[in-house]
Amino acid sequence: MDHGSARRLWGGFLERLYPQVCALCGDAGQPGLDLCVGCEADLPRVEQACPSCGRPLPAEAAGSVCGRCVRRPPPYAAVYAPYRYAPPVDRLIAEFKFRGRLANARLLGELFRRAAVADGRRPPPLLIPVPLHTARLRGRGYNQSLELARELARHFGVRVEAFGVRRQRATPPQMTLPARRRRANVRGVFAMRRGRRLSGSVAIVDDVMTTGATVEELARVLRRAGASRVEVWSFARAGQARSR
Ligand SMILES: [Zn+2]
Ligand SMILES: [Zn+2]
Repeated sequence: MDHGSARRLWGGFLERLYPQVCALCGDAGQPGLDLCVGCEADLPRVEQACPSCGRPLPAEAAGSVCGRCVRRPPPYAAVYAPYRYAPPVDRLIAEFKFRGRLANARLLGELFRRAAVADGRRPPPLLIPVPLHTARLRGRGYNQSLELARELARHFGVRVEAFGVRRQRATPPQMTLPARRRRANVRGVFAMRRGRRLSGSVAIVDDVMTTGATVEELARVLRRAGASRVEVWSFARAGQARSR
């Protein structure tokens, strides 16, 4: 028996033992996905987005860079964020992040991968998850961005650099701060470990992107460390692009 069929057999066995259950409604899930067909179809997808910052755009503005990015071009080259940060995506992320549902990591990773394949996107050869401060990592037990990056890396055959960047201090979660304070909150918070240098194209991986202050700060650090191009891959995107 070859490796592939052994794996399918084992997968089928596990499936009978632990059938997939929808994480949202409790109905039967789908093979390899803890979500039923109906709940998956109802997830809010970003249809048109600003190619620069990933904020959802109204249909008539499809393909154009939003006013905000024209006025102040961000330090990253592009954002790919397939889901809108709206119910029930916010609930899936909250459970994943704060209630220790590591099972949701597999689910979100799988959804992220499926969306990228459907949208014809491919990540660059190196993924850098937004690092957590060690104190927070100890409290939570895992870094949600790292779990997502691992899923993407496994599927697309790219590398994850989990510990190349250090978060030098614990900061209040961005979500708890008003937009204008978020940039100051993360200023100088990231540093490359021991003079680690980068080259070529990299992607920052995050679970949810709101004002973008965190990934902007991290993108600057990665560019200074030698990355020629920085993309952002975020599972979900909050906010709406303003017209110009
Ligand atoms: Zn369901
Ligand atoms: Zn934009």
